[in-house]
Amino acid sequence: MKKLIALLRARLKAYDDTHNFTCDVCGREVFGGERICDKCRKILPYNDGIICPLCGRRQKEEGICLTCKQKRIGVEKARSVFTHEGEAARLIVRFKRGPKYLYRTLGEELYALCKREFHGVDAIVAVPMSEKSLKKRGYDQAALLAMRLGELWDVPVLTPVVKTRDTKPQKFLGRTDREQNLKGSFHVADRKSVKGKTILIVDDTMTTGTTLSELADVLGRAGAKTLYAATVTSVEERSPLPDKERG
Ligand SMILES: [Zn+2]
Ligand SMILES: [Zn+2]
Repeated sequence: MKKLIALLRARLKAYDDTHNFTCDVCGREVFGGERICDKCRKILPYNDGIICPLCGRRQKEEGICLTCKQKRIGVEKARSVFTHEGEAARLIVRFKRGPKYLYRTLGEELYALCKREFHGVDAIVAVPMSEKSLKKRGYDQAALLAMRLGELWDVPVLTPVVKTRDTKPQKFLGRTDREQNLKGSFHVADRKSVKGKTILIVDDTMTTGTTLSELADVLGRAGAKTLYAATVTSVEERSPLPDKERG
């Protein structure tokens, strides 16, 4: 079985190397296995300006952001490839609606970020989805990203956590309601596999960081040593806004 998978991977890679593709953002033809054209790379909102050193979200001034000052994010450090706006936000929306192949491009972007930002990571854990949501969407986008990242980075991907109940969409909730909504929704089924490890949590988007913090909390209680988080996009920090209006 393993041999077969290795063979398939090698075939896929050979195919990628010799075929041209269209850009995942604008649809223009790209060469040499690239998935985003040079033009789009320039307009994508890479999150490389001023960011909060803890949650990694873009902000106007240097230093720890107001959200983290109110309540620290539950990981040592979180980083994201893009700010959640413009073409990057549209890519994420598309990725959740159907073109699941986008996990490759987005996973590669995550890899470039993680290689630079995180060291000594023992394992990757994707933010889990409930059975019900998985059935509805047909695929787990965070798991796909984690898989691609793990493959490129050569770091094992673990699935020690299950989401035991369906939660309301976080979109319309303020920070406090988000926390309430998620409380007790993650369960570490395999504690042994995370004990003493440095774990990187992966998700598509970080809004207020509540989901990452809740997952980090249960992993920490299960004995994980250090917790980091990486997402494809994160929403810019715009404090002070009323709690409800924060994305
Ligand atoms: Zn393009
Ligand atoms: Zn912050």
